[in-house]
Formats: sequence, C-alpha cells, structure tokens
Amino acid sequence: MSFDPARFRALFPIFQAPFDGPALHYLDSGASAQVPQHVIDAVARQDSTARANVKRGVHRLAEAATEAYETARLAAARYLNAPSPREVIFTGGTTGAINLVARAFGDTLGEGDEVLLSVLEHHSNIVPWQLLQMRRGIRIAVIPATSDGRLDLDQLDRLVTPRTRLIAVTHCSNVTGALTDLAQVVAAARGVGAKVLVDGAQRAPHGPVDVQALGVDFYAFSGHKAFGPNGIGVLWGRARLLEAMPPFLGGGEMISHVSFEGSSWAPIPNKFEAGTPPIAPAVGLGAALDWLAGLDWTAILAHELRLTGRILDGLAAIPGCRILGPAGLQQRLGVVSFALDGLHPHDVCQFVDATHGVALRGGHHCAQPLMESCGLVGTVRASLAPYNDDGDVDALLDGLAHAIGQLRG
Ligand code: PMP
Repeated sequence: MSFDPARFRALFPIFQAPFDGPALHYLDSGASAQVPQHVIDAVARQDSTARANVKRGVHRLAEAATEAYETARLAAARYLNAPSPREVIFTGGTTGAINLVARAFGDTLGEGDEVLLSVLEHHSNIVPWQLLQMRRGIRIAVIPATSDGRLDLDQLDRLVTPRTRLIAVTHCSNVTGALTDLAQVVAAARGVGAKVLVDGAQRAPHGPVDVQALGVDFYAFSGHKAFGPNGIGVLWGRARLLEAMPPFLGGGEMISHVSFEGSSWAPIPNKFEAGTPPIAPAVGLGAALDWLAGLDWTAILAHELRLTGRILDGLAAIPGCRILGPAGLQQRLGVVSFALDGLHPHDVCQFVDATHGVALRGGHHCAQPLMESCGLVGTVRASLAPYNDDGDVDALLDGLAHAIGQLRG
C-alpha cells in the first residue's frame, strides 16, 4: 500500500494555521515533531475531565487520573515491546532519562570503570557521563565515526575492554541520520558483561521499537519528537537493573517508608518517579504512541526515504555542498545535514524560511564533538516526518538555490 502524506498531514492543525508570508514547509521534525489534533485533545480531555494528582488520592478524580497515567505507561510498554510496564519510567525527555541512568546506574560504577560513547552522540549522551566522570573517576572512551557518518563499529574490538561497564550510543544520529547496528554493539558488550544504553530520540518517532529483540538494557526517547507533548519522555530499563539501582531523585511517591532514621524505596517504576509527574503530557504521549503503533511503517519509511533520496540528489548537484552522512538510503532515516561552502548555516536557514517558508535547523545540533571532527562549526539540517511531501522538498531545493544565488553573491 502506498502512503498518502496529505491524509496524514490533515491530522495536524499546524498545517491549517494561518501564517504571514509563505506557506509552512516544516523540515525540522528531528528537533520537535508537530502534534496531531487527537493528541492535543487527549491532553485537554485529561485536564478538563480527570485533573487530579496521581498515585495517592482515593477520590474519583484521583483514581481516574491514576488510571489514565498508568494506561499511558502500558502504551509506552507496548510501543517498546517491554516485558513489563514496571520497566517504563516517565521522565522529562531523553535528557532526563539519560541523566537518570548516569546518576543511578552511574553510582554503581567506580574509579577505572569505563563508559564507551561515540563521537556521533548528542550532548545529552555525553555531558551526563562527564559529570559521572567528575563524581566517580570513571574513564570515557569514544567510538569514532566512519567517513559516511556512521559509528565505526570495526573499532569495537579495540575499544571494549574488561573494564567497560556500559556502552551508550545513539540508535539514529540526529546529524547524519545513520542508524546504528545495535546487534554488533550488544554482542561486544555481552563479551565483557557490559550494559547497553540506547539514545532512541531520533529513532523512536519512526515506528515501534522492540527492546527485547534489540537485546539492549536501557532505551530512552522524548515525547515531543514522537508527535507527543513537551516535557515528557521515557526510560525503559531491564527490571533487574532498575531494581538494583539506587534512586536518582528523592521525594514523594518514590518511597515505601520515611523516617529520620532512614527511608526505604518504593518498587519500580515509582522508585524513579519522585514527585508529581507530568500527568497530562504522559496521557498525550500514550495517545501518540498507540496511534503510531497502528500505522503502516513499511509504507511510511518508503515514503520518507524516497523524499530523502530526492534531497540527497538535489544537494549532490549543488557545487560546494558537503553532505555529512550516508550518501545512500541503506540503514538510515530521513535526517540530512549539509554544509555549503562560504555560507553560515544560520544565514541559510533564515533565508529559506523568509523566502520559501522552509523550517530547517542550523548549527552544531548539540553534537559539537562530531562537528569538530568534521572541521565544521555547524551544518544545515533537514529532518523528515510522514507529513512531508514533494512540495516540501521542492521548496527546500528552490530555497537553497535562491539562498546560494543571493548570499554567495
Ligand atoms: N538525543 C538525540 C539524538 C536528540 O536528537 C535529542 C534532541 N535533539 C536528544 C537526545 C535530547 O532530547 P530532549 O531535548 O528531548 O531531551
């Protein structure tokens, strides 16, 4: 079955909203995806019919709120094929999820233990480990990138040592769009008894994930990139690991008993959800994930990759355009970064927005180590979602041609 982006697009009120100037061509879903009406409605319904605090009240509203919140947890567990909803922790986003692991799992590590990252990581999968390094004296090692913007997994043999405790890598680069072959990473980790954390921020919005088939230990993603609300995200972790980890934040709901002599912790997932959680955002994310799970991802990915191919071909025809990432369509998603000789990414983005209504991202994309390894300060990035169509690609390529004509003078 072929996929009809127009029908998909009609679900999103932003594309019907009136704008001054040119029509919107939204190619920045890698930063934040747009939200369909039914997700907006689910959030509004929660606040207008069942607003109360969760987990503690016994009145009807509190019970309704708790049920809605736990139903959202079930949706997240199904989306990830998690063995149990107890393994799903709601966080503020990918950043919150990785910081939770860097704190709680990290506090079980000590001097000389190693965490292996990659040069493709987003700052949110680098800096929490540097903070851990300052606290616990761990060592950080880094998997380099290949010339086409993938993790250089041939280096794993050299980089994984008997002291490696965790390999924390992205499932899909937010700069190059390359998908990581996690099977190789998991095999290398298992060889030395290390755990694997996956930053799924860019991959999770492109169809359900099977954490059991992947064989990883932790998986993190953000609601706002997965057509859900802001301020909500998911950490999945194996129950055995989560149970063995100390809490990250302390407060209400994460305890079993508190006294000044000492406190004890609630079972997972509550142990890691201190305080009042983002209830309506969680309900909205649950609605988004249930909906995503029912879509035809074979057709959608074919659609996104066809558009990606058109962008890559268009860029290849521009003199002085350097594409970061795979030149082909294998093992990648619709994220394309490029640098135009002599032009600053911000100038290009502002120009194509003003003249052609194209929303792009320009800068280092929170991946400064990768930029530096490529000798760049930043790139322009186009990132796709199922609502994008040929008109968006036409606007992008026309806009770039104009920008180059005007800005390169
Ligand atoms: N990892 C990757 C690969 C990302 O693209 C992003 C968002 N740009 C993040 C982590 C951080 O996500 P958030 O800001 O939602 O926590």
